Amino acid sequence: MLLLKERNDIVRFGQKLVNSGLTVATGGNLSVADRRQGLIVISPSAVDYSGIKPSNVVALTMEGEKVEGRGKPSSELPLHLALYRKRGDIQAVVHTHSVYATTVASLGWEIPFFHYLVGFSGKKVPLARYATFGSEELALNVAQAIEQHNAVLMENHGVVAVGATLAAAFSVAEIVEYLARIYCQVKGLGTPAILSEEEMEKVIKKLKAYK
Ligand code: 13P
Ligand code: ZN
Repeated sequence: MLLLKERNDIVRFGQKLVNSGLTVATGGNLSVADRRQGLIVISPSAVDYSGIKPSNVVALTMEGEKVEGRGKPSSELPLHLALYRKRGDIQAVVHTHSVYATTVASLGWEIPFFHYLVGFSGKKVPLARYATFGSEELALNVAQAIEQHNAVLMENHGVVAVGATLAAAFSVAEIVEYLARIYCQVKGLGTPAILSEEEMEKVIKKLKAYK
């Protein structure tokens, strides 16, 4: 089987997606790219995470041609491919429907640099405009919004996080949910202070060295 380790990672992190409360039912999806082989593996569409096996994780070329796997690829395949095309520095994409991040995204808000952990995304968590799930338009909106950030809020939908590894992308998705929860709380009580441009740059540099 092609990319067996990566398939196992999709199964493992898929279960973690549900167990960590970052999604419910069959929402969200994950992929890993092997750029040397020009392949990606992605979670199957509409399959409960407890039922995903390495054999129904789908392997495709970076152009979206299926090469192996029994399942139907995630409906968000165009989104994952668009992000790999846009960002040569990433090898994993995690899409979630986490509650607080989706709350912020449904208000049409971004998350500004109100807390140092925003630095794991960049100078903010930007917002991608709404388009139908699984559409090329949604893929385009998210690929446009991401620039050099590691996460994007998807209006009226959820979140996408990217990283050099699946563990890194997953961790960014968890952090975005934590930040969104605090941001909702803070916005309910007042107006948060936004850190200065200079501090943002300092923190981003420091987080890159924080492993
Ligand atoms: P899939 O089950 O096709 O991956 O779709 C879930 C989803 O989150 C769509 O945006
Ligand atoms: Zn979704």
